[in-house]
Amino acid sequence: MIYKTNITFAFRGHAWGFYDINNINLFQLRSPRPFKVPWRGRKAIFLKIKRDKNFMIKLPCSKCNTYHTFRIDHHELLSSKTKVLECPVTGFKLCFFGERDKVLCIAKNHSEEFCLASREKDNGFFVNPQVMYGAAKKVYSILYDSGIECECGSNLIDLHLYTDRIELICSHCRGVNIIYAENKNDLKVIESVTKISLKEKGFRCLDALYSKGS
Ligand SMILES: [Zn+2]
Ligand SMILES: [Zn+2]
Repeated sequence: MIYKTNITFAFRGHAWGFYDINNINLFQLRSPRPFKVPWRGRKAIFLKIKRDKNFMIKLPCSKCNTYHTFRIDHHELLSSKTKVLECPVTGFKLCFFGERDKVLCIAKNHSEEFCLASREKDNGFFVNPQVMYGAAKKVYSILYDSGIECECGSNLIDLHLYTDRIELICSHCRGVNIIYAENKNDLKVIESVTKISLKEKGFRCLDALYSKGS
């Protein structure tokens, strides 16, 4: 058996269909203190492997406005099956985790379904919902097609959505790429690319200049 050290987590944002993607290494979870994933600037998601090797995850729930704690058996954590964690009150899906390809596939499919269902809707979170829906759908698709890589050689890229932008972060060197999604020009740029490259330990923006190869 190949010992797996990386697990991909997809955390659902607010009441919309987009997921933040985080690649987490098992070693990060073995420290005495819980590993925190920042979430929406205020809350955090807490993950930890306990002494009994069981895995604990505490997730903020936007439906109940509280946290739900889940305990997962270590066999389940390392199995190849994708796990889903739901709000125990509403059944709202809060998180998927497991092998990267499978989790990215779920996140991509959800983003497509959500965009279809929400063509006319504005949930009040994004600066320009229609631009963000188009941009996010495209970025999930590029990520799933392995079209996002970092110059450090890693393709373990995290994806976080904000009101006006999508941030891509290399989980190896923490290089960052920001994709703005505020207006139609931003959308044109992201729709014109099939690959995105992160700068090793650096910062880059996907804008009109970058897309021309400058
Ligand atoms: Zn809940
Ligand atoms: Zn990197």
